[in-house]
Amino acid sequence: MDCAVSLRALAAVILMTWVGTAANAQAPAVTSFEGARLINGDASVIENSAFVVQGNRIVAVGRRGDVQAPPGAVRVDLAGKTVIPALIDAHSHIGYMHRLSSGPQNYTRENILDHMHKFAYFGVAASMAMGSDFGDTPFRLRDETRAGKHPQAARFLTAGRGLAPIDEIKPNNMRHSAHLVTTEDDARRAVADLAANGVEMVKTWVDTRGGTIKKLTPPLYEAIIGEAHKRKMRVVVHATGLVDVKALIRAKMDGFAHMVGDVDDELVELLKAAPDTFFMLALGGLRRQMHAPWIDPPHTLVSDSVWPDQIKRLRERLAKPAPFANQSWTRLSRGITRFAAAGVRVGVGTDGGGQQGDQFIGWTMHTELENMVAAGMSPAQVLVAATRMSADILKLEELGMIAPGKSADFVVLDANPLDDITHTRRITSVYLYGREIPRAAMRSKWQAEFAAAAK
Ligand SMILES: [Zn+2]
Repeated sequence: MDCAVSLRALAAVILMTWVGTAANAQAPAVTSFEGARLINGDASVIENSAFVVQGNRIVAVGRRGDVQAPPGAVRVDLAGKTVIPALIDAHSHIGYMHRLSSGPQNYTRENILDHMHKFAYFGVAASMAMGSDFGDTPFRLRDETRAGKHPQAARFLTAGRGLAPIDEIKPNNMRHSAHLVTTEDDARRAVADLAANGVEMVKTWVDTRGGTIKKLTPPLYEAIIGEAHKRKMRVVVHATGLVDVKALIRAKMDGFAHMVGDVDDELVELLKAAPDTFFMLALGGLRRQMHAPWIDPPHTLVSDSVWPDQIKRLRERLAKPAPFANQSWTRLSRGITRFAAAGVRVGVGTDGGGQQGDQFIGWTMHTELENMVAAGMSPAQVLVAATRMSADILKLEELGMIAPGKSADFVVLDANPLDDITHTRRITSVYLYGREIPRAAMRSKWQAEFAAAAK
C-alpha cells in the first residue's frame, strides 16, 4: 500500500512539474531591468531607468519607480551600468573573409552565420551586406534571421547582387557577383530580379577606382533608380567624388555607401532640398592607417574574436607609412562636421568583411564610432547614428530604440559612452530578441578554433 501511495505521490509531482513547464512555455518570461543609465536611440537619457521585457519585446520603459513590473517578474539589477539599443551596421560584405583569404570560395552559409554571430558578440543586431551576395543562400538566411531562427546571431540583411558596369566585375573580388549593366534594359532586368527575391535596397557603384576603370554612366544609373523607385525599392551607391555625388542626388539617388571626399556649399544645399538622402560613413580604411592603438597589443575583444594571423597581417600593414592619410582625413572630417551641423542623415557602415580583410567583423563597429567622434560628431550624435538612424535607413522598425513594442535588443556597458565613445567596447552583456547572448561560450569556441589551427 505504501508503495502505491508513494507512486501516486510521484505521479502527482510529475504531473505538477509537467503542468508547470507547459504554463511557463505559454506565458513568456517577464524581466525587469532596473537601475541603469539608459541612453536611447533618440539621444534621450534616463538615469536610474527601468524597462520591462516580455518574451522578445520591450513592454515598458521609464524611470525606476514609475515603471511597474508585473508580479513574478524577474528583476535584473543594472545599477552603475549604461544601456544602449543594440548597434546596427548599414554597410558590410559578409561571408567572403576567412582568415587570410577573401573571395567567393569562402561564401558559405556557415561562414555567413559565423560572421553574424561575431556581430552579435559585439552588440550588433543587424548588418546589411551591400551588393556582394549571390545565389539563394543570402535570401534564405535573411528570412531565417528576420524570423528569429538564429537568436544568437545578428540579423543578416542583403542587397543581393549589386549592379555594375563590366569594368567593376572581377572574377575573384566582391563584385564578381554583380549584375552586369551595359544597357538600360539590363538595369531594369537586374532590378526586377532583385525585386523577385524581396530585395528592398539596391547597390550600385559609380567610381573610376582612381582612373583605372570606366564608371557607370548617368543614363544607366537613372534607369536603375527609375526602375527601383517604380517598385518602391531604394538605391544606394558607392560614389565618393563630389561631382558624381551631386549628379546622383539630382538623379534622386537614395543613399551613399561612403562619405563623400569633399563637401561644398552647393552639396549642402542639395542635401537640404533632398532631406531623406543618407550616408554611411565607413571611415575605418583611412582612419586606422593613422590611429589604431588597439592593434598593438591587440584589444581583448580583438584577440577574443579575430584569427591571430589576421591580427598579425593588419599589424604589419599598419607599420608601413600612409603618406596622404592625414590630408584625406582632414578633408573628410571637415565634411562630416558640416553634415552634422546641417542635420544630414548619417548612419554607420563598417564595410566589414571587405576585400582587404582588415575590417574585423564586429570590432570595426566600435572603431567606426570612435572615428566618427574623431571626425567632429558628438558621442550622442554618433550613438543616434549607430542605432535609431541606421535602423531607420534600413527600415528595421523593430530596432534602434528601447521602447514599447520594439524587439528587446540592447547592450549593457560598464561605462558611459557619452563620456568617452570607446566605452561602447566595455560590454557587460548583449541581449538579442530578449535573451542574453552567451558571450563567454562564444569566446571559448573561437579560442578553441584558433588554438587548434595553430597546432
Ligand atoms: Zn563596401
